[in-house]
Amino acid sequence: MRVCFALFTVFVAVYCRKVFTGDQVLRVNANSEEQIQLLKELENRDMLELDFWTHPVSSDLPVDIHVPYASLYAVQRFLQDNQIPFHVMIKDLQELVDKEQEDLQRSAMKSADAKSFDYGAYHKLDTIYSWMDSMVADHPNLISKVQIGFSYEKRPMYVLKFSTGGSKRPAIWIDAGIHSREWVSTASTLWMANKMATDFGVDPSVTSLLGQMDVYLMIVTNPDGYAYTHTNDRMWRKTRSVNSGSSCRGVDPNRNWDAGFGGPGASKNPCSDSYHGPSAHSAIEVQNIVDLIKNHGNFKSFISIHAYSQLLMYPHGYTCTDIPDKAELDSVGRRAVQDLSSLYGTSYSVGSICKIIYQASGGSIDWSYKVGVKYSFAFELRDTGRYGFLLPANQIIPTASETWLALKYIMEYVRDHPY
Ligand SMILES: [Zn+2]
Repeated sequence: MRVCFALFTVFVAVYCRKVFTGDQVLRVNANSEEQIQLLKELENRDMLELDFWTHPVSSDLPVDIHVPYASLYAVQRFLQDNQIPFHVMIKDLQELVDKEQEDLQRSAMKSADAKSFDYGAYHKLDTIYSWMDSMVADHPNLISKVQIGFSYEKRPMYVLKFSTGGSKRPAIWIDAGIHSREWVSTASTLWMANKMATDFGVDPSVTSLLGQMDVYLMIVTNPDGYAYTHTNDRMWRKTRSVNSGSSCRGVDPNRNWDAGFGGPGASKNPCSDSYHGPSAHSAIEVQNIVDLIKNHGNFKSFISIHAYSQLLMYPHGYTCTDIPDKAELDSVGRRAVQDLSSLYGTSYSVGSICKIIYQASGGSIDWSYKVGVKYSFAFELRDTGRYGFLLPANQIIPTASETWLALKYIMEYVRDHPY
């Protein structure tokens, strides 16, 4: 269902916002390979317009399905008829979306100034871009804003570069929000950027890290998608590019990289949420990052931040074959999540993408590893599905604080293990 409204400013802008009244998120616990196959069939029934938040892979992992109100009866009937256990995780998706909007409006009244910025709230793109300017103004000798190009809809794409000097120093890449509906990824990274800036000169470890390496933080990697989650569809994941020959828009920017491109775990269908695009790096948002990393030539770590599921992963995603550096990356990952868990006891799993969630081809960290960036990791932040992509704003700072400990461990390890 869509609700449309017009904004009368200098010109008239009409937004049709998708509403999710009565939609539910079901957690399905298949208990056999046969039931997994049935869920895969369900996933392919386009008419039901199901949005699989997690995918059927093995009976060890639950499958979370966002079911539109109109399809609820059919889906529940299907699960019951096949004796597939499930329960309702989110009773009415729109209630959570409304609550989130109220919180967001309240925080929007406050200032975008970095010192009084509300890190415990979600923010619109414009507010985040203004915050970037105030971060640069507050830390002129540490942070600069680098524009790496434009998105498909011509929004500027910015990286915050933390650097204390030198040219092409060894560097660490961190991106957030490549999937636009994963708001906590962007919100946590805002907090972590501020933490790194304020700890510089105070925390000897952060000071020594930034004395030797540069850190590039891309806080909104998919700006068109992010803007769209605020104006039209809170559940939008992809870019907003037009797909020729289809009325469906957008490419999954984490299936578009040149690493096993077009293989299993990505879709050829432009209407799918995991559509890989017509060719590798066809998404301008991806190409802009590829150009930066390649032109720089001295990145030692590439970290991509997603949500949700509480995982810390390393390559590969496109194949379940182990990478040569598996033992080292696995042990770095395990130590990092130990630090993360030390704060609130949040539990994380560690492993290769292919082995701990599912085979997914064309992912960013497979590409970075392939081009020689050894310390390539991806996080899936909180939670494990209670709220999924609609993690309440009061969990942003706890999520960011614990994630920072893991990130800091990885960055220190990279600093101390040059290659
Ligand atoms: Zn994601």
